[in-house]
Amino acid sequence: MLRSGKLAILGGEKTIPDDLIKPWPSIGDIDREYVLASLEGNEHAYGPNCIAFEEEFANWNENKYAITTNSGTAALHMGIAACGCEVGDEVIVPAYSWSSSATCVLHHNAIPVFVDIDWETMNIDPARIESKISEKTRAILVVHLHGLAANMEAIGSIARKYSLKVIEDACQAHGAEFQGKKVGGWGDCAVFSFNQNKCVSAGEGGMFVTDSKELLKKAKMLWSFGEIKGPGEERDYHVHSLGWMYRNNDLSAAFGRAQLTHLDTFLATQRKNALVLRKELENLSGLMIPRVPEGCKHNWYNFVCRVDAGACGYQGDRRRFRDAVVKAIEAEGVRARAWQKFILPAMGVFQTRSAYGHGFPWSWPGARKVSYDPADYPVAQKHCDTHFVISVPLRAPHGEEVATLVGGAIRKVFDNLNELDIDQLTKEESRIGITSRIS
Ligand SMILES: *Cc1c(COP(=O)(O)O)cnc(C)c1O
Repeated sequence: MLRSGKLAILGGEKTIPDDLIKPWPSIGDIDREYVLASLEGNEHAYGPNCIAFEEEFANWNENKYAITTNSGTAALHMGIAACGCEVGDEVIVPAYSWSSSATCVLHHNAIPVFVDIDWETMNIDPARIESKISEKTRAILVVHLHGLAANMEAIGSIARKYSLKVIEDACQAHGAEFQGKKVGGWGDCAVFSFNQNKCVSAGEGGMFVTDSKELLKKAKMLWSFGEIKGPGEERDYHVHSLGWMYRNNDLSAAFGRAQLTHLDTFLATQRKNALVLRKELENLSGLMIPRVPEGCKHNWYNFVCRVDAGACGYQGDRRRFRDAVVKAIEAEGVRARAWQKFILPAMGVFQTRSAYGHGFPWSWPGARKVSYDPADYPVAQKHCDTHFVISVPLRAPHGEEVATLVGGAIRKVFDNLNELDIDQLTKEESRIGITSRIS
């Protein structure tokens, strides 16, 4: 195993050669077959593949109902509306997630109230939820971040105590389990994404799932213009309430259906590779590897590590240290990156309350004043500053040999940390500020 030798970032040999890591998703004959059949079928809008995708996904995830959408974010907005959140109502969300886990609340004029995360799980900290509940709170939006289920037992009991709805953002968590049951079946409704990076990739797309007929009905009204009946039913095009156009299209659904047939094998590969990588990185000083709490089955969408600059003997800015480590790992041929460098409450949209203009929805007279002081979320901030993720190298078609090499590359960097010139490596970042990245 390659671990000694000069770091690639200092001119040494790369641990992983350029063509070893394949792009995601992995495409096979079945993908070509489904997508070409859709192309030739001449039903390109919400078509037969969409209907089949809904049925197959609901079956796979053991949900009663599913509606396929053009994004996970659209499905999240449907979830907020389906749970009866109205103007000025509050929704509890984790302080660290993808942006739209929080902005979907604004889409329906409701107000996100942030809760700090738990350091170990990186998910919302159930112990901090109750103090954020007010008479305006209608729902808790939980995110199963990086593919690890949030503690649905603790969250469920808080929700029952205060009669709140629970929306699961499972956009990263296809196949993740809590106490032997898949995510997406714990809350009142749940949402999955089929964006290219996700475990089921359809280019773009999403799925709203629920076991409640009433929530299905409410979600469906938003989905197709505010009509009661969607495509495939006898439409009269009467708009009953404010709707959007969140429907999926047949080509994307065909791609998604084909990828769904690979999903169980893909997940098994990710799980096996993550296990290998965890073994490789055990007891590496200064690196905290992900742990899986009792009762959870991770899907390993992201393998998330945290770097302890102090334990590595670096007393400067922890973000710069992490950035330098990531650069050195990437130079070894492993795609590593900080996944999300900003906690949600610190983002401009919340800091400047920039949504519908005139400060709306926060300025609505019936709204309660909420604060978005980033200092209230120290755990999320520390996580933001210290983490990096590995994803594609641990997914299909890569096998255990690649996972072993990834481990070797990271160990090589940690074994040679004293050779990195942190200030030199992060000069660009400090000059131009942190650049944003596409999801
Ligand atoms: C990707 C993602 C979303 C949004 O899904 P899109 O399909 O890109 O709209 C929402 N929440 C989380 C946690 C995500 O990772």
